[in-house]
Amino acid sequence: MLQLTDVAKSYPTPQGPLFVLDGIDLRLAPGESLALMGESGSGKSTLLHLAAGLDTPDRGEIVLGARALSSLDEAGRADLRRQRLGLVFQQFHLVPSLSVLDNLTLQARLADREDRDWTHHLIERLGLAGLEGRYPEQLSGGQQQRLAIGRALAPRPELLLADEPTGNLDEGAADQVLDLLRALIGESDCALLMVTHSARVAAPLDRCVHLHHGRLADRTP
Ligand code: ADP
Ligand code: MG
Repeated sequence: MLQLTDVAKSYPTPQGPLFVLDGIDLRLAPGESLALMGESGSGKSTLLHLAAGLDTPDRGEIVLGARALSSLDEAGRADLRRQRLGLVFQQFHLVPSLSVLDNLTLQARLADREDRDWTHHLIERLGLAGLEGRYPEQLSGGQQQRLAIGRALAPRPELLLADEPTGNLDEGAADQVLDLLRALIGESDCALLMVTHSARVAAPLDRCVHLHHGRLADRTP
C-alpha cells in the first residue's frame, strides 16, 4: 500500500541544510491504521508530505499503491494522489464559496470517482444531513472537520493521510471526529496514517511509530 525505504529529507536554510529525516523505513499494509508520533518539529508533516508526493526526498524510495513516486512527474503524482489518497489537515482547507455538498463531492468529481450512495452515506454518518446547502462558515469547527474528512473519503481512497486532524478542536469534538474517522475507515477498508501527538488518539490504531532525530522507532501505545 505504502512503503518508504531509506528515505531522507533536508531543507536548505541560510545556516546550511537542515536534516529532518534520515533513513526512514516504513510499511503500511492495506486497511492498516498507523499513528505517527513525535515532538513538534521532528518531521512528521515532512514525512506525510513525502508520502503524498507533495514533496520529493533527497534519497530513498517511496512506493504508493505499487507505483514508485520517483518514476512519476508532478502531473503523474497529482493523478495518483487523486485516485488513491485522501488528505486531511489540521486546517480544514474547505472552499468558502462552495456549499457543504459541493465541498464534499469536490475531490470525488475531480477524480471522476463520484458515488452517489457513498456520498449520501457519508453525509448521514458525518451528521451533515440537512446542512448540504450551507457554506463552510455556517458550520461549527467540528462540522467543518467532519466535512473535510468526508471530502477526503468521498472518492473511496485506499489510504487516508491525516496530519493532526483534530488539532484545532476541543477534546469533546475531537473524540467525536476521531471515532467517526476510525469507523468510516473500517467501513471502506481504507488504510490510515495519522499524525498525532496524543497517546490517547494513537492508542486505538493498529500500530504506532515514533519519530525522533530523523528516525522511526516502533512504540507500543
Ligand atoms: P512536525 O510536523 O513534526 O512538527 P515538520 O515536518 O513540519 O515537523 O518540520 C520539521 C523541521 O523542518 C522543523 O524544524 C521545521 O522548521 C523544518 N521545516 C519544515 N518545512 C520547512 C521548509 N519548507 N523549509 C525549511 N525548513 C522547514
Ligand atoms: Mg506538523
